[in-house]
Amino acid sequence: FGTVVAVDGPAAAGKTTTCLALAKTFGLRYLESGRTYRIIAFEALQREIPVDNAPEITGLCDELIEQSRSTSLLTSERYASAELRKKPVNVAVSAVARIADVRQRVTSLIRLWATTHEHCVVEGRDIGTAIFPRAAVKFYLTATPEVRAMRRVRQERAESYENVLEDVIRRDDADMSRKASPLVPAADAITIDTSELTVEQVLHRMSSTCRS
Ligand code: C5P
Repeated sequence: FGTVVAVDGPAAAGKTTTCLALAKTFGLRYLESGRTYRIIAFEALQREIPVDNAPEITGLCDELIEQSRSTSLLTSERYASAELRKKPVNVAVSAVARIADVRQRVTSLIRLWATTHEHCVVEGRDIGTAIFPRAAVKFYLTATPEVRAMRRVRQERAESYENVLEDVIRRDDADMSRKASPLVPAADAITIDTSELTVEQVLHRMSSTCRS
């Protein structure tokens, strides 16, 4: 691989906003790995496949990879982001992400994708720990659940604060308690608690580290 900047952290910690800005500043390709898990969860809901049926979900994952010719599933434009961010997908995605065979396939796709882009920033939950343990730079972005929920409500204005907070806490529990690649900071990650920082301040810290 070329240079990989790995950005992990819990739901709604500001990973997407900061990664996009970082990608622009340094001319990096950007990959949002959660989108792939969301696509699989979305398709499972459409086809009424129970999301906790590991063999069937793994079969669905293989079919989607095959159909979209491998790595293009990661960036497929067939799915509108707004659709992938709706509540049913938010709920289903945690069960899909728990399936070790699905994680293994998504991991392979991301590694393959990275071989075709020399410099990239990849965000997710297991990028610095499992997918690119030798990434050049690793960040772990976090903030209190209340701050993350409040930011999400301001950004999307779709749901009540209570509902969003509940979703954030439920996804934190699911991400941190799963057996396959649970969410933890990599030992060599730089942790940034963004609870009391502006986007600009977070970006400043990340950019200074990338430059040095
Ligand atoms: O980042 P985003 O919130 O869109 O991710 C959706 C879900 O996909 C997360 O709640 C998490 O369970 C899962 N995920 C994961 N590993 C990744 C990225 C996302 O398990 N690398």
